[in-house]
Amino acid sequence: MGAMSSLDAFARDKLAALDEAALRRRLVPTERGPDAAAGRAGRRLVSFSCNDYLGLSHDPRVIAAAQAAVAAYGAGSGGSRLVTGNHPVLDALEARLAAHKGKEAALVFGSGYLANLGITPALAGRGDLVLLDELSHACMWAGARLSGATVAAFRHNDVADLARLLRAERAAHRHCLVLTERVFSMDGDRAPMGDILGVAEAHDAWTLVDDAHGLGVAEGGPRAPLEMGTLSKSLGSYGGYLCASRAVVDLMTSRARSFVYTTGLPPASAAAALAALEILEAEPARCARPLALARRFTARLGLPEAESAVVPVLVGAAEDALALSRALEAEGFLVVAIRPPTVPPGTARLRVAFSAAHAEADVDALAARIAALTGRT
Ligand SMILES: *Cc1c(COP(=O)(O)O)cnc(C)c1O
Repeated sequence: MGAMSSLDAFARDKLAALDEAALRRRLVPTERGPDAAAGRAGRRLVSFSCNDYLGLSHDPRVIAAAQAAVAAYGAGSGGSRLVTGNHPVLDALEARLAAHKGKEAALVFGSGYLANLGITPALAGRGDLVLLDELSHACMWAGARLSGATVAAFRHNDVADLARLLRAERAAHRHCLVLTERVFSMDGDRAPMGDILGVAEAHDAWTLVDDAHGLGVAEGGPRAPLEMGTLSKSLGSYGGYLCASRAVVDLMTSRARSFVYTTGLPPASAAAALAALEILEAEPARCARPLALARRFTARLGLPEAESAVVPVLVGAAEDALALSRALEAEGFLVVAIRPPTVPPGTARLRVAFSAAHAEADVDALAARIAALTGRT
């Protein structure tokens, strides 16, 4: 054995520290199927960890649309959308997304992460101000930091704190963006959108809301001027989007670097998302189901009533969250533990995500197992 390279020594040191803190992450091969099924190591589990809230990733109509697009256009898009990667199905999807959000226009990005990485830096830079909810998704933080603007966080869902920051900082900056999520990804609670929009507009600040976990499931309330989200959760496909005015979308088309300098979405992903969006709009009963199941679960466990399809079961220590997740997996439930830095230190948790594809009996069985394992009830 030769001496370990400094590169590998660096990586091993970092990994040892992650192991020590129970924060190392590992990939587990997982097969997904209809009815919220997940296969791991040959076992069939009921998944409460997918963001496929409406069960559309395995809907035969969505699959057929993807297959038809592959047959017609091929597997990959062939280039940036500004060169040759702008397949007609993308235009159709954008028109439908814009109509859904009541906006003039929409732009589809390669993913939700890429959308947030591109949108904020195209609207704000040095001398501008970006204020974001402290629990905002990692990609909103990444876009904010990348912009070069002054970045500050307001306390989670605290409109008074946002107003305080605006009063203190707004005047010293040229433009200001306010970033939040309609439904918070790890807590499942909803932003007070009406109040946030009111205070932002009063200070001539532009609000960008991330609707990754709201679309089709918990989407009510006023719209922000900038509505972004993903095609990879309730729409069961892959990709991201921004819905906004025509002028803003046209600016993004030229200036959002994560749109310009990357390959267009595969046509099959866009076709699947379009078929899913049509189903989402045509089937309100399907859209109501994840929240109803989440409320059934919170009622059984005596937790605060669910506001969305995402329910956190707080555990605290990372090792304890992992142990609880493993115990549930042994009983046939896939409920992945969420640890720092995805959530603040000391707030490791199970993140339970409900889908229209779940049966009531699955929800009841999971609630009973969690109650037994955590000594609740
Ligand atoms: C999942 C998620 C994203 C990223 O979307 P992808 O399409 O998966 O890249 C962005 N924001 C929030 C709040 C998310 O939960």
